[in-house]
Amino acid sequence: MKKYYFNSNLKFSVTDEKSNENLLPNQLRINMKNCGICGSDIHYFLHGENGGRKIKEPLMLGHETVGEIIEVGKEVSKFKIDDRIAVNPALYCYDCKYCKTKNFNLCENVLFLGSAAKTPHTQGAFREQLIIDQSQCHIINDSVTYEEAAFAEPFAVALHASSFTKYNDNQKIVIAGCGPIGLLLLKILLQTVEQEKIFVLDVNHNVLDTAKKIGNINTINIKDNLNFINDYRNFFDIGFEASGNVNSINNLIEICRRGSNIIQIGNMPGGLIKINYNKVMIKELKLQGSYRFINEFDDAVNKINNKEYIFSDMLTHKFKLQDCEEAMKIASDKNKSIKVQVYN
Ligand SMILES: [Zn+2]
Ligand SMILES: [Zn+2]
Repeated sequence: MKKYYFNSNLKFSVTDEKSNENLLPNQLRINMKNCGICGSDIHYFLHGENGGRKIKEPLMLGHETVGEIIEVGKEVSKFKIDDRIAVNPALYCYDCKYCKTKNFNLCENVLFLGSAAKTPHTQGAFREQLIIDQSQCHIINDSVTYEEAAFAEPFAVALHASSFTKYNDNQKIVIAGCGPIGLLLLKILLQTVEQEKIFVLDVNHNVLDTAKKIGNINTINIKDNLNFINDYRNFFDIGFEASGNVNSINNLIEICRRGSNIIQIGNMPGGLIKINYNKVMIKELKLQGSYRFINEFDDAVNKINNKEYIFSDMLTHKFKLQDCEEAMKIASDKNKSIKVQVYN
């Protein structure tokens, strides 16, 4: 079984080992089928760290994964061999105070696939097979492709972010940063908000063009429109920061009106950053962090199974797992790609 590790020297290495680990009673072994490349994977690939979590030992990237069950543990009853599943990358402890109140995304002891948050690192899905807990499995319908199902995780992230605010007819909404999460959020907002009320900001023409194809919304390339802050000062009622760029949160503090909600989904650099914090007080801005997802993973899979959403317009590239280095390079280039997947 081949495993593709990413190392602190920013290079991939591959190992080929017999998969002889025994399953625990509640575990399953799956053949990895598709795995989306996420912004956090790209951070690791470019910088050897993600939001301050450094790669300290070889790490298999990838957490947006789907697969086919090839073996089940003794106590697994809900799933069987050949079932096609989406994998929730988070294994919760079900024991901490956050798990006990069902705020699973805040679990103090979570293990998240493809993450260097803990040492030993939690190994991700860039491998031919992986072992997961049955609590992480969600059946996908036969009519849904693995490509579509591999959007469940980022879609769940966007669903969680959209849950923090209620929309009404008169509100103007801005999404700052239009990577896959920003685009998925756009798809969700378009279900309830008129397209002319939605504005999308980015520095990249390729992603803004993709946003425009998803809905006839307003797009602003903030690199070409240096005056946009003056043009839109105190204009928006709700802001989503989905770029993880420090300038972007300061832009939102200017262009969102007094008393508005700003939801942070983008992954900022770890440590201290410089923001115009006094304006948060003066304007009574409500800054809300949005981290991963809770029951939105179930919602995401249900909506995908019911074909309520289609994501093929965002999937620009697919690479064989063995070409994961090339896949990571393309995924890092926003002029070329939107969502990239590896498959096995
Ligand atoms: Zn992700
Ligand atoms: Zn917990």
